[in-house]
Amino acid sequence: MSGNTEPEYAPGSRAAIQAGCTCPVIDNRQGRGYMGIAGTYVYSGDCPLHGHYVVTPPHLSSKGNKE
Ligand SMILES: [Zn+2]
Repeated sequence: MSGNTEPEYAPGSRAAIQAGCTCPVIDNRQGRGYMGIAGTYVYSGDCPLHGHYVVTPPHLSSKGNKE
């Protein structure tokens, strides 16, 4: 097992939810994948398990800097 890009639990799966996952369940087809596409998931930014997988595009991350 090398590389750590795969989530320990599939977002939206029952195991993930029991571990505290708050990612969309329906969108992830209960962990089977976004729209049923294996390996593709949507993540919730405030999910304690998967929040760090959310990548904010640079043009959006500067949104809070209004100074
Ligand atoms: Zn999650």
